[in-house]
Amino acid sequence: VRILRTIPGIRSALRPARRADRAIGLVPTMGALHEGHLSLIRAAREETHEVVMSLFVNPSQFDDADDLAAYPQDEDRDVELAREAGVDILFAPPPRLMYPPGFSTQVRVDGALTETLEGAHRGPEHFHGVTTVVTKLLNIIQPDVAFFGQKDAQQALVIRKLVRDLDIDVRIEVCPTVREADGLALSSRNGRLHGDDRRRALALSRALKVAEEAAAGGERDASAIAHLARVEMEQLQVEPEYIALVTPEDLAPVHVVRGDTLVAVAARVGEVRLIDNTLISGSED
Ligand code: AMP
Repeated sequence: VRILRTIPGIRSALRPARRADRAIGLVPTMGALHEGHLSLIRAAREETHEVVMSLFVNPSQFDDADDLAAYPQDEDRDVELAREAGVDILFAPPPRLMYPPGFSTQVRVDGALTETLEGAHRGPEHFHGVTTVVTKLLNIIQPDVAFFGQKDAQQALVIRKLVRDLDIDVRIEVCPTVREADGLALSSRNGRLHGDDRRRALALSRALKVAEEAAAGGERDASAIAHLARVEMEQLQVEPEYIALVTPEDLAPVHVVRGDTLVAVAARVGEVRLIDNTLISGSED
């Protein structure tokens, strides 16, 4: 793996690939790599010639200073995992190069997409931080394909909208959520689940499973499904911040489950805030 920390450095490293018309794939991460990240890298490895992973803990997308301070960082470990999974180039800029003194531009997707769910609970500024840094990464690396995880379903939608609205020449690919054997969605924050909180964290995936089963069993009333999911979480003494049934394209509230519906959940377990989601179907087959 080549590790590059400057913008001129990564640009010149990518010039030969660009000249040779080799497809460049980008996997943006904040490090603390796990199988979820590695699945994105493997997808990039299969579909593109030159795989770039960015490693940047983006301060502007944290709405909670304690969460930023506690965010796990171990670059040596990340470099090793990235290498094994097939990353060619690691772009790991220091914050002062991404946000030099006087930096004063923001890229924001406005409207329901950034105001609902995570936007309502963390504030839309979280997504403005994401879209600003992703725009910078797409401009710096100019990948042909950029890979994101369905785990952060709302983020993926916001990024698709960003790319469409600003005519950014990149294909966005969203890869399935990778889970532990017991159902817990992998997250860099899971390592901060201590003691009994690891077991209680199953509240989210279990609630989603209950929602899936209810829909498969013919329940079409969204509030009834949300209620069953909430009761499941309460079994583990976890209080959801939200459990919402929304359209998978624009996150509009769903009242009756007819077509594909996104069930999204967020909850604090111990000191960690977790999110997860699943797609349920209202079709008869
Ligand atoms: P992060 O480092 O948490 O910002 O995540 C970097 C990328 O990995 C984002 O596109 C996430 O959606 C994706 N990701 C995080 N967790 C998972 C997971 N469990 N399965 C699949 N992708 C994931």
